[in-house]
Amino acid sequence: MLSTMQDEQLSLATLLNYASTFQGDSTVSTWTGDGLRTLTYRELGAEAARLANALRGLGIGVGDRVGTFMWNNNEHMVAYVAVPAMGAVLHALNIRFFPEQLVYVANHAEDQVVIVDGTLLPLFAQYLPNLKTVRHVIVANGDAAALTAPAGVQVHSYTELLAAQPDSFDYPIIDERSAAGMCYTSGTTGDPKGVVYSHRSNWLHASQVCAPNGMGFSAADMVLAIVPLFHANAWGLPYAALMSGANILMPDRFLQPQPLLEMMAVVKPTFAAAVPTIWGGVLAGLQAAPQDISHLRTCLVGGSALPPAMMHVFEEKFGVKLLHAWGMTETSPLGSVAHAPAGVDGEEQWAYRYTQGRFPAGVRARLVDDAGNVVPNDGNSLGEVQVRGAWITGSYYSPDGAEIEPDKFDDGWLRTGDVGKISPNGFLTLVDRSKDVIKSGGEWISSVDLENAMIGHPAVAEAAVIGIPDPKWAERPLVAVVLAEGQKAEPEELREFLANKFAKWQLPEYWTFVTEVPKTSVGKYDKKRLRAQHADGELTVTELG
Ligand code: AMP
Repeated sequence: MLSTMQDEQLSLATLLNYASTFQGDSTVSTWTGDGLRTLTYRELGAEAARLANALRGLGIGVGDRVGTFMWNNNEHMVAYVAVPAMGAVLHALNIRFFPEQLVYVANHAEDQVVIVDGTLLPLFAQYLPNLKTVRHVIVANGDAAALTAPAGVQVHSYTELLAAQPDSFDYPIIDERSAAGMCYTSGTTGDPKGVVYSHRSNWLHASQVCAPNGMGFSAADMVLAIVPLFHANAWGLPYAALMSGANILMPDRFLQPQPLLEMMAVVKPTFAAAVPTIWGGVLAGLQAAPQDISHLRTCLVGGSALPPAMMHVFEEKFGVKLLHAWGMTETSPLGSVAHAPAGVDGEEQWAYRYTQGRFPAGVRARLVDDAGNVVPNDGNSLGEVQVRGAWITGSYYSPDGAEIEPDKFDDGWLRTGDVGKISPNGFLTLVDRSKDVIKSGGEWISSVDLENAMIGHPAVAEAAVIGIPDPKWAERPLVAVVLAEGQKAEPEELREFLANKFAKWQLPEYWTFVTEVPKTSVGKYDKKRLRAQHADGELTVTELG
């Protein structure tokens, strides 16, 4: 028996239409360094229509890929919604990819047009001659004449191109399963892999982001989107903001702690989202020059493990709640969010809030051990986390249909590569990435647990732990420490600090002090590079007896 419900397609065009009319007074703003450029969602709707008309004029149709090479700003937000609404596919290029990765993904996705920020033109100009399918470049916030294009590529000014366009567009009705956007994984091994989101997956995901046990967006929010729009589908922020009428604040290229704190002082956002390394920098800025940030009701932190010590300082010293969440490019990315269960408060809440969070109804999860057996969600058994759901990818994008890394999927489940445990009430605790966990004498040491504990030491600004080869134990942990400004510490006292938190055999004997931990294109510790630095003898290592 079929339902009597209307067969309405979930589409980003419908979302755009909704936001630009019924939530038309809400805004997207971009920080300019000393002020704001603001569009209401009503104006955003008109500008999106102009962009859609312009792209159609350049020959872009349903299914064609439109790249962006941009900071988080108004124009990027316009592209984020105009491109899928017209049926084309948004491909936000990671501006921090290594040159060969950037060229690889733009060619692999077959981007036809790329919208580029003026300040990024010198960088983009280096890649352009190698981008095989790009026919048009649209320069936003800058001088189009500054770009010399190879033969066959036309360069346009965003402002001039859009000025000539009507501010309405007849958006096509397309199948909700059609491609809306794509993102490539930013992993440090192998070629980046493409994930293609659909209108339906983005819509359902945005509903979960807006839900109270997601990020709880409402039209009363001002959301500071620090996470780049090119990282993991922008964590769902743009579509969730349009859906809820939440206002969105874009930091553009001003991503250092100082300007972030300045824009916070002026705009007083209620919500912000970024990876832990950004919050570490903001915290150092706040410690040096305290400022009231209690306007932030919540800061979402994910992408890598959020150290409990950081949660405590933000909450106890600055009155701001850091909300821990887990996800991946492959999961749109919202996978789990660490709200304490109803009725649990005071000291008891922390045990839940330290975890990677509870799975929502839209994400099914299981644990699978090395032998391929599903292990129970009893809060103790460890396994690889596998997930499935309407906003979880079922494969990697392949232009020619050849399967890419099919071993990342297990009977319809996505293998996350994360090792952890799940409690009976659905809270995920990650132990490590399977490739980062340190295998010492047949036992496991969690690099994340060591890092989380180490960051609690007042002299430590950053700590990254890798396994290094050991003739007796196979691997042992090496801790790379960045000391906080003006602080001193010796390996002995740092190890002593860990002594009551870990078993004796887990305590690291290898230590190195570095000025900076290498980071990936999305701001996570780049352990592959750290391992290479160690292998190449670039690190001065102290061995404790
Ligand atoms: P990405 O696709 O760049 O977002 O990377 C996804 C990976 O980041 C996950 O598979 C995890 O290994 C890691 N990750 C994301 N969120 C967390 C978290 N809250 N705690 C620990 N690791 C995380």
